[in-house]
Amino acid sequence: MKPKKSLDNNALNHTPMMQQYLAMKAEHPDKLLFYRMGDFYELFFDDAVKAAKLLDITLTTRGQSAGQPIRMAGVPHHACEGYLAKLVRLGESVAIAEQVGDVALAKGPVERKVVKVVTPGTLTDAALLDDKRENRLLALSMHKGRLGLAWLSLASGDFALMDTEVEKLPSELERLRPAEVLVADDTTLVLLDQLQVPLRRLSPWQFDAQAAARNLARHFGVHDLAGFGVGETMLALGGAGALLEYVKGTQGGMLPALAGLRVEHASQYIELDAATRRNLELTETIRGEAAPTLFSLLDHCATGMGSRLLHHWLHHPLRSQPRIMERQAAIGALIDSGSQPQLHGVLDEIADIERIAGRIALRSARPRDLSSLRDSLGRLPDLASLLPQGPFFQGLAHALRPDPALDALLRAAILPEPSVVLREGGVIADGYNAELDELRAIQTHGGEFLAQMEARERERTGIATLRVEYNRVAGYFIEITNSFLNLVPPDYRRRQTMKNAERFITPELKTFEDKALSAQERALALEKQLFEQLLEQLQPHLAALRLAAQAVATVDVLACLAERALLGRYVAPRFVDEPVIEIEAGRHPVVEAQIDDFIPNNLCFSDARKLLLITGPNMGGKSTYMRQVALIVLLAHVGSFVPATHALIGRVDRIFTRIGASDDLAGGRSTFMVEMTETANILNNATEHSLVLMDEVGRGTSTFDGLALAWAIARQLIEKNRAYTLFATHYFELTRLAQDYANVANVHLDAVEHKDRIVFLHALQEGPASQSYGVAVAQLAGVPREVIRQAKRKLVQLEQGSITRGMQADLFESPLPEPEPAPVAHAVLDALAQVDVDALTPRQALEMLYELRSMI
Ligand code: ADP
Repeated sequence: MKPKKSLDNNALNHTPMMQQYLAMKAEHPDKLLFYRMGDFYELFFDDAVKAAKLLDITLTTRGQSAGQPIRMAGVPHHACEGYLAKLVRLGESVAIAEQVGDVALAKGPVERKVVKVVTPGTLTDAALLDDKRENRLLALSMHKGRLGLAWLSLASGDFALMDTEVEKLPSELERLRPAEVLVADDTTLVLLDQLQVPLRRLSPWQFDAQAAARNLARHFGVHDLAGFGVGETMLALGGAGALLEYVKGTQGGMLPALAGLRVEHASQYIELDAATRRNLELTETIRGEAAPTLFSLLDHCATGMGSRLLHHWLHHPLRSQPRIMERQAAIGALIDSGSQPQLHGVLDEIADIERIAGRIALRSARPRDLSSLRDSLGRLPDLASLLPQGPFFQGLAHALRPDPALDALLRAAILPEPSVVLREGGVIADGYNAELDELRAIQTHGGEFLAQMEARERERTGIATLRVEYNRVAGYFIEITNSFLNLVPPDYRRRQTMKNAERFITPELKTFEDKALSAQERALALEKQLFEQLLEQLQPHLAALRLAAQAVATVDVLACLAERALLGRYVAPRFVDEPVIEIEAGRHPVVEAQIDDFIPNNLCFSDARKLLLITGPNMGGKSTYMRQVALIVLLAHVGSFVPATHALIGRVDRIFTRIGASDDLAGGRSTFMVEMTETANILNNATEHSLVLMDEVGRGTSTFDGLALAWAIARQLIEKNRAYTLFATHYFELTRLAQDYANVANVHLDAVEHKDRIVFLHALQEGPASQSYGVAVAQLAGVPREVIRQAKRKLVQLEQGSITRGMQADLFESPLPEPEPAPVAHAVLDALAQVDVDALTPRQALEMLYELRSMI
């Protein structure tokens, strides 16, 4: 008997089941337990309440256990992916308990087992993953101010380690964007409590580095991990061990095929701190949207593999010039070959080989995964043949030729268009297995048998509308409409009564039914078995498949960057050893794509010109200019061409930005505090090879405070850090720094007033701006005319006041000026001077006093 959807009302019957449930739940207390019952996954007790709320499904109450009604909620098995996706997005983990025993043989509840745990960081299912982003699980280990990071993408098998300082945690989190984080539960770090990512706290012993080193060495079949560049003292090792055990627990004991073990060093990449990754809007806007960003602009990749690699490249600008030049040359060759459109066409037909390989490793691949893999492999030779000449592309082409035996195996084993679910059969190709062919023949010939029988019975009974048919519920039957029931022969036995007809069975049909149904069942079981065997046979090919996937991704990204370079008129930047950054007619790639007439601007940094003070009206284009410089430098180190007519770039080690005012409300820090924290980070870490963007620093506090800070910060950047600095400011007073330091220059963005309106020119010019146009910008923004008029009048007064007091001239030589006493009310003084005090009566004196007061 099949289990019913709902719990049986008889308490005696369901208690053993509840016992089974509770035993499983005890092993997964922090996860939602999906308990399979027939075609549903059911949740009970608190899980049911929680899931009902999160998933917006009905909460019901059924039966009783231990005298209490059981709360319960369920999702249909066939629609569970959508629900799982939603839960995982909300940061929940789900343990899936399937029926593993034989339903027909079970006394009491069918045997069930947690076969899989779905957690945000361990997803592999295509339906649950974003195909443009890597899904990473990250383990953190901390010791004496050091931080060990170990991360794994289950879908791609990429596994990496890195040791760094604890202070780097925010920037590493921003770079890796893990979907889930593991730490030892004795870790105390305030930052972790503010983490926006699901955090799992594990026992500290799970982070034991020595045990991890042993396990990893065994896993990779090596004596020790030195060959991977992993030192014995590496802090990240402990995390790596915890991570692998955690993954194993989620995959029913199965480990993903790891693509190896990489050790990353901060010095491999241009360092970008957390704020900079956000401020430059590389892959997400400051507001957290997917577009418009550098990634959304550039990503015209045909495959998810390409998109993910591009995403990775943008967050990992390289320092190694040979590798940069390799990519740059490849893009150049693709542009010259003109093969980009054909490449895109072929790439378009290639499935996500990388993720399919990941699922094959975990034995969770589906029939359509294998047919897409087969079809994609068939396209790889075409891809290879379209690549330009040269050793770099030869290497890629080589990876694009996986073992012909693999191709042959998939072709032989899988039907051209297999069904979606294995359980329904129709997956394994004809001719692959003799027994399966035979079982299928019984069913096919069954069709002929039914047709023959129908003809025969029509003749025998004389009922022309008699039909011999099959359906899943009733099985095989002979259907006769009610008007002919008087003609039914005596050997027909009634099977089912319909509205207008009766359904019958005969001994002959029954014998056939038994044979056909058992053949079908056996065929289905055999297909399942053959499919599982096939997954085993594919295991030795995984490494080659990964390499092929990487090659496809690389070709895709390079072709995409070549196309962008062509369409956007980008040029190949040149790298030099001298300390310079020169950009001719540079553009902001994202802003440029959004407006009609973008004005290109130049940049020139050298030892003699290291800090540029940028002044000009709000909306003049200061931020755009600064960001475009950073994006061009970053793109150059990604290996891409850049939006300019010419670019010359010396050694760059880090990019820092302090841009925009954003409150870190979640972190409990005010705008000004965020600003100063980011500034402190820059002043403590920027070197003479760093590119620093400072936008309106000091804005969040009072004028004098802010001005004084901005001035001191600028001086520190020139004297101590000696970084390449773009310093945009609305404190006009700072422009005087150019007189004090030979390597400081003033540049400005101009605007002209035209018929009482302001027109921004967006063209960068040498020298300081002449005025700030704040009032004109306010007018442009629609501030009421009366306010504008008053502001203009006040501005004149203030400017005159500050000139008479010489405030600007003295600011940097003397301590900041004391506020002056308020101007005296002259009319009152004049009136007082004219009074003859002795001649006043007491009453007149009092009236005078009232009058004088009213004049103030
Ligand atoms: P600021 O930082 O000086 O306040 P922004 O850099 O934010 O100014 O620029 C304001 C707007 O001006 C941008 O949104 C963009 O539309 C436009 N803009 C900026 N730079 C340019 C440019 N070089 N060419 C054309 N338009 C520009």
